[in-house]
Amino acid sequence: MKLDADRLWSALGEVNRIGATPVGGAERLAWSEPEMQARRWFAGRANDAGLEVSWDAAGNVWGFGGLEPAVVLGSHLDTVPDGGRFDGALGVVGALEVVRQARRESVPGCERLAVVCFSDEEGVRFGLGMAGSRAVAGTLQPAEITAARDSDGVALSDLLEQHGFEAARVPEAHANLSRMACYIELHVEQGIRLERLGAPVGVVTAIVGLSDYHIEVAGEANHAGTTALEDRRDALLPVAQLALAAREVMSSTEGVVATVGEAWVTNGAPNIVPGKAGCILDVRAASAGAIEAAAEAILGAGRAAAGAAGCEFEARLTKRLPPAPMDEEVVAALEAAAADLGSQAPKLVSRAGHDAMSLSPAGVPCGMLFVASQGGISHSPLERSSQRDCVLGAEVLGAAALDLAQR
Ligand SMILES: [Zn+2]
Repeated sequence: MKLDADRLWSALGEVNRIGATPVGGAERLAWSEPEMQARRWFAGRANDAGLEVSWDAAGNVWGFGGLEPAVVLGSHLDTVPDGGRFDGALGVVGALEVVRQARRESVPGCERLAVVCFSDEEGVRFGLGMAGSRAVAGTLQPAEITAARDSDGVALSDLLEQHGFEAARVPEAHANLSRMACYIELHVEQGIRLERLGAPVGVVTAIVGLSDYHIEVAGEANHAGTTALEDRRDALLPVAQLALAAREVMSSTEGVVATVGEAWVTNGAPNIVPGKAGCILDVRAASAGAIEAAAEAILGAGRAAAGAAGCEFEARLTKRLPPAPMDEEVVAALEAAAADLGSQAPKLVSRAGHDAMSLSPAGVPCGMLFVASQGGISHSPLERSSQRDCVLGAEVLGAAALDLAQR
């Protein structure tokens, strides 16, 4: 099924006029006025496509085509602060155009196609992340919602109420899970692998899991000038060693990324030997075993350095998201659709989180198709993908979705 390339491109332009930034990006923070406006835009477009539109208790907007369980296509319209025009928006626009065109041409299976716009995927404002899809999966706890506040102190539950939602009822969104036969998301890669391979699109085989560790090292604060080398118990040294070990493990282990992105010296000053220091270690890989092995090696290096420096070392797992494998049947459908359209889509692992991460563990067969990101830049106003690649991505999405819908 051919899509109208200009129509798709102008729809992307239209939604990005909502929350447009002067530097050519978009900013639609979850539950902000621009983001709500964008979700209403989505509801209007889905309605125009002939779908039955509904908002669930978590603010996810759905458009069903008549037959269920449905092959659901979608993404999100919230962005990070000072974000770009493709992350999320491309998947939403692509889903709308596919379903609209399939219904216009009455392609067999078109009634089984549905669209969704998930709320609060980015998680930057309230620290929740994939909140809408987690509500659908049944894994968003009511206590998380009532506790959530943004950096201005605005409570999520108050915002929900302002927009006609109720925090206590958010878990009701779970009812939509059984309406999904599968979920397929078109998204920009947010990395440079496809561009380097010269491939316009790629098929995701898994989304990496992530483990975060909070590390505290205790040594002894003392005078920077008068404390002799043998008397120093410098708490920063094991933290530095940990950052080096993260890089070492990453360079020697294929498919693992490890980062110390936050580190501190408690009561640090130029004239004090650090008495207390700490950091956060973030480890990602496509298998739980690989994450564990990498974390063990890095933390082991930190612990050994602490021993050598006469310090105490404590590591606590503070966050764990298991890797999400994509469904084999959906992956095969996407690969076949890409090949039919003359593009050998390489398989790749997603190193960023997406809504499929919440849906896949809940039993929804998921698939994702990536479109090349120019220069690999994302979460930035400079985020770009070419019109040709975006249209090809949407056409591959459409062919795979119709293939699955006809089974
Ligand atoms: Zn996204």
